[in-house]
Amino acid sequence: MNVTFTCRQCGTCCMSLGDYIIIDKQIGPYEFACESVSTGTEFIACVDEDKREIFCDRSFPDNHPHACRFLRPDGDLLRCTIHNDSPAQCKFYRCVIMRITAPGGNVLGVVTGTLHLHSDDRMLRAVWEEAEKNIPESFSDAEERRQRYLVEHGYLVT
Ligand code: SF4
Ligand code: SF4
Repeated sequence: MNVTFTCRQCGTCCMSLGDYIIIDKQIGPYEFACESVSTGTEFIACVDEDKREIFCDRSFPDNHPHACRFLRPDGDLLRCTIHNDSPAQCKFYRCVIMRITAPGGNVLGVVTGTLHLHSDDRMLRAVWEEAEKNIPESFSDAEERRQRYLVEHGYLVT
């Protein structure tokens, strides 16, 4: 089981993926033959019907050459315009699954979906290293158990 993750559609993770999600050629008005470079997977992407209007505005990709070609602003959000057809690694990507807070309220670090801690706090890093030793990633419930481990050591985890 995994810790619940809700994508806020901020688009941050897609801003640097222009070299990784490649459009090989356009094959229809809203259809593209694509490649996911990191996995070497080819896929056909059809722009979601409800996002065709924002997709047609090319000013965003023109001004952000490193962003994924399918990313577009939509109000306050940056949206994937091929949500239905996006590659598996996009669908399953989880940028942050735990925010770790000191009892006083300061955010000390975050844990990514690949179970890596990002923190400058020495004590938290030491506790996490212990958690890594005691609860290997190979455990099917590693996420929940590591979350509990942090809570047992006095941290707030959201
Ligand atoms: S996975 Fe994370 S960084 Fe990417 S769009 Fe969702 S909330 Fe933003
Ligand atoms: S296909 Fe969609 S989710 Fe994947 S990088 Fe591009 S905009 Fe982001």
